[in-house]
Amino acid sequence: MTETGTKTYAVVASPKPTTLVVHCSDPRFQIAFRKFIEDELHLQDGEYVPVVIRGGAAGFSHPERLPKDFAFLVGRIESLLERFGEIRQIVLINHEDCGFYHTLTDRVTGGREHEEQMLHDLGNLPGIFTRLLSQFGLNVRVYYARFADEKRTQVTFDKIG
Ligand SMILES: [Zn+2]
Repeated sequence: MTETGTKTYAVVASPKPTTLVVHCSDPRFQIAFRKFIEDELHLQDGEYVPVVIRGGAAGFSHPERLPKDFAFLVGRIESLLERFGEIRQIVLINHEDCGFYHTLTDRVTGGREHEEQMLHDLGNLPGIFTRLLSQFGLNVRVYYARFADEKRTQVTFDKIG
């Protein structure tokens, strides 16, 4: 049965996004990601397209070992770049203690520790993206959100590439 809504919510009527931001869906970090995007990347709602997916751009790091993740992400990102022709920049944000990395088997990681593997993957991403999406001429920036206090209530964002 359909119930007609009565409350209304504002939308961005004509967005002109210049940036695609790919980050993890971990609920602990959403508020920090939004604040970081606004405060440090200086992007408001409508100026960027968020792609929120478990593990963030990690699925791009393993085209041979995780081919389905890779193809899915590439397809979605290409379609967004075609839809929003003014996007010139991709920002990739991953974070400490990412659950996605706990799901990766030794076959993918070669037995590396999770954080070590993630930092290794993040370091490779600018090259992968630049090659992969070269026809779009994109600037790629990569950030890593790491805990800034012992109780893990705050994060800070390191620029990786
Ligand atoms: Zn995560």
